[in-house]
Amino acid sequence: MCSGRVDIAFVLKAFMNGIDGVYIAGCRLNECNYITHGNYHALNMTLFTKRLMEHIGLNPERLRIEFMSGAEANRFVETVNDFTKKIRELGPLGKVEGLDKEGIVGGIEKVMKLLPYLKIAKREKLGVRLKDPKDWEGHFTKEEIEELFATVPSYYIDPEKCQACMTCARRCPVEAIDSKKNMVHIINQEKCIKCGTCLDACPPRFGAVTKLVGQPVPPPIPEERRAITRKREKEVA
Ligand code: SF4
Ligand code: SF4
Repeated sequence: MCSGRVDIAFVLKAFMNGIDGVYIAGCRLNECNYITHGNYHALNMTLFTKRLMEHIGLNPERLRIEFMSGAEANRFVETVNDFTKKIRELGPLGKVEGLDKEGIVGGIEKVMKLLPYLKIAKREKLGVRLKDPKDWEGHFTKEEIEELFATVPSYYIDPEKCQACMTCARRCPVEAIDSKKNMVHIINQEKCIKCGTCLDACPPRFGAVTKLVGQPVPPPIPEERRAITRKREKEVA
């Protein structure tokens, strides 16, 4: 019902499935029937996705958003025809980009895996209402996206501090934390989507989760050393 429901993942999945172009139509800006103004969200999502496409070598002109009312059939037809013409000029996905299927899928998978992190990092910009079309082009910049990918964080559980309270594992949205009773918890870096929930969830009195940027994650401790020593036991010893 609402263009605001269109997620970056929907667009990327379409390209992953070999679609040559994605066209999104939303209601005219400032004419939302509800209080949500989801079309502004769709606009920001589109501007952000275009930059992400650029980052992985896909031509951003393969994605377009247009705003119109239900009474503007002519505008719909004109913009769809124009978009179709543009996509025909660009040719099949990957052609002008010089990418084969493997390169396209590899790039999209890299972005998909980081989507929660990317959305959290840019949540403020994704939430604004860009009323002036002059602001659209520069809302997200190429340099900003490069910086975003260059500073992707990793999360690490300090085995000396973890008290195996299991809070982080219960809150992790993708079950990326190896959780066993009375055992130091370990983050599976392959599964982790960098959402940062474990950092917020770990009780401050333990403070066992660390955010690492630009440095390697220490290797997980061996299974035989994972049994934890409770803080109080340590103090008695
Ligand atoms: S950052 Fe923490 S909570 Fe988020 S996916 Fe990674 S391990 Fe799970
Ligand atoms: S929330 Fe903190 S102390 Fe509790 S299991 Fe996770 S890392 Fe360990």
